[in-house]
Amino acid sequence: MRLRIIGYWGAYPGQQSATSCYLLEEDGVRVLIDAGSGAAAQLQRYIGLNEIDAAVISHFHHDHIADLGVLTYSRAVDQALGNTAAPLRIYASDDETEKLTDYSRKGTKVDTYHKDETLTIGPFKFQFQRTKHPVSCYAMKITSTASQQSIVYTADTAFSTDIAAFAENCSLLIAETSFYNRQDAASFGHMTSTEAGKLARIAGADALMLSHLPHFGDHQQLLHEAEAEFNGPIYLASEKHGKLNFE
Ligand SMILES: [Zn+2]
Ligand SMILES: [Zn+2]
Repeated sequence: MRLRIIGYWGAYPGQQSATSCYLLEEDGVRVLIDAGSGAAAQLQRYIGLNEIDAAVISHFHHDHIADLGVLTYSRAVDQALGNTAAPLRIYASDDETEKLTDYSRKGTKVDTYHKDETLTIGPFKFQFQRTKHPVSCYAMKITSTASQQSIVYTADTAFSTDIAAFAENCSLLIAETSFYNRQDAASFGHMTSTEAGKLARIAGADALMLSHLPHFGDHQQLLHEAEAEFNGPIYLASEKHGKLNFE
């Protein structure tokens, strides 16, 4: 299972970089986790948009779904040009069936996941946990049939012991880090760097990636604050740490 960071900003994109989007690849199957603003442009640095099999959406805030609509257009164009016959599959929670139907068009098939059921897409198994956020939002645990390793993506959430239990012993925890230590993240349904580190420690994660980053302050400070809580390796999400292997 390979993970590539496509976008890592919270709220809105940077000049040359996107908001939340992650690409999973194994055995020629390519699945997106979220499809934020700028994701369709960034993805084309690595793969053709016609090569994406599916997208699994955590929630319907714009920084996680802004490019979902244009991805459905790209699939309609790619099918018309004969670049692929396969549909783009989009999965979102069955809490959001109505919003999901907006994306149902030629070339795209929409479907729901249920919080208590495993979703299987090719070699990937997705499990879900409701987060603490102002709208319906789900953290995801992704395992592959080929390896025992697991990636947990918090999506957007305030600190939650339920998420820590869900992430127990994961290989990598991708934790949203929207604020710095001592800032009020919880009332916005987000976490600080310190809380991201604490989440990784309680979960017993092998490694931590700070993502969904703020457009203010010095991100190195986020790292240092998380390091005070968590002893394992910590990455700051960026193009530099673009590709991680979980064999
Ligand atoms: Zn967000
Ligand atoms: Zn959100």
